[in-house]
Amino acid sequence: MTDAQALVKTLDFQLDIQSDNESLLYDATLEARSVYNETIRLAKEGVDWDDIPDRVADDANLVKNTTQRVVAKALGAMKNYYEYDDFGQPSHTKDGAYPLRANYEEGYNLSLTDDGDVAFRISAKPYKHVTGVLKGSDAHLDILQTALEIDEWKIGTAEALFHNDNAELHVNVTNTEQTVRDKQDSLTVVGMDVNEDNVALTALSEGGVEDTLVIDFPEIKFERHHYFTMRKRVQNAGKDSIHNTLEGREERFVRDRLHKVSRHIVAWSQQFEKPCIVFEDLKEMRDSIDYGTRMNRRLHHLPFRTLQFYTSYKASFEGIPTAWINPEYTSQRCPMCGHTERANRNKKRFKCRDCGHQDHSDRGASVNIAVKGVKKLDWNVPALNSLPTVRKVRRQASGAVDAPTVTHPTVRGYQADGRMGVSD
Ligand SMILES: [Zn+2]
Repeated sequence: MTDAQALVKTLDFQLDIQSDNESLLYDATLEARSVYNETIRLAKEGVDWDDIPDRVADDANLVKNTTQRVVAKALGAMKNYYEYDDFGQPSHTKDGAYPLRANYEEGYNLSLTDDGDVAFRISAKPYKHVTGVLKGSDAHLDILQTALEIDEWKIGTAEALFHNDNAELHVNVTNTEQTVRDKQDSLTVVGMDVNEDNVALTALSEGGVEDTLVIDFPEIKFERHHYFTMRKRVQNAGKDSIHNTLEGREERFVRDRLHKVSRHIVAWSQQFEKPCIVFEDLKEMRDSIDYGTRMNRRLHHLPFRTLQFYTSYKASFEGIPTAWINPEYTSQRCPMCGHTERANRNKKRFKCRDCGHQDHSDRGASVNIAVKGVKKLDWNVPALNSLPTVRKVRRQASGAVDAPTVTHPTVRGYQADGRMGVSD
């Protein structure tokens, strides 16, 4: 999660393959799959990771540096497994296409045509190329054309892959000129509270709370539970290949949604003067819920970290700095009077047992995160006399949909024992 990584943007295109060699590209993605599988297999066997690239490259029918990129990606998946255990140990027995990752000007090339199109040339196999033009959104084509013309934007690795049977190219572009503003130079702190089915944002300036937005994404939670149940069923039936397909589908679904949500977060933050987005470090420590099973842990863990990561790199690409704070008590503290007690919070409702302040509990947490961010930046914490009405939007496949505005929630159902359920 370094800043260097943060300045990379991925642009997605469809490949309009001119020559009759779509099957050549498909074959190359199958070859990439066997490179991936072989890498994972050797890593599981305990082969020294430094020795794997050469051992795999000897048998691979791909351009050498493309093989190296695919090997590096497979080892990245292993590393991620050891560090986070997000999706279980990577499989080395899946089949089907795997993204062909290539270095710019080695494994693939791009150029502007006289018609203003961007032409591509991908080395699918040694000495065998796939050519054509890229199709995509105006915004992405625009950035790529800029990158081809000016030095500040560098074109990096790309992945050729098949998505719903269509050939695509995902190109990484780095803006070497954009620097992330020094966070000390910020005038607004945006506190971000990530939950399983929403994210709450609060913008705090020296004048107090500027605005709050809650972005709901109940379908992410729903789909993840749904996929989990389906996977369990096929796994119990011993159908591993279906299990793997479902896992891939779930992963794509969740990542796609989280990308959309993170874009929304950055766009919202940009309306404020010199923003700095503040995240909680290791959120799962904050609520002492019993994450007994591995699945529970995974369900709760993944969206938090991924959404923070997507948001931080998209923010950096816009020059917006980010900061991390300690998550302790952010969900239990009353943002108005500071009284801190677990019983203040009950699911989505917050009611302070000292001053009686009532609020949407995730908004309250986002205010507390912003306050901690302000302290971290060494500002004086402004007096909070009132908080603006919480606005809610729902993030769906088609984009943001306005949902009814939530005012202060009622305390109906408030449980005196202060049980803090996070999922219903
Ligand atoms: Zn209070």
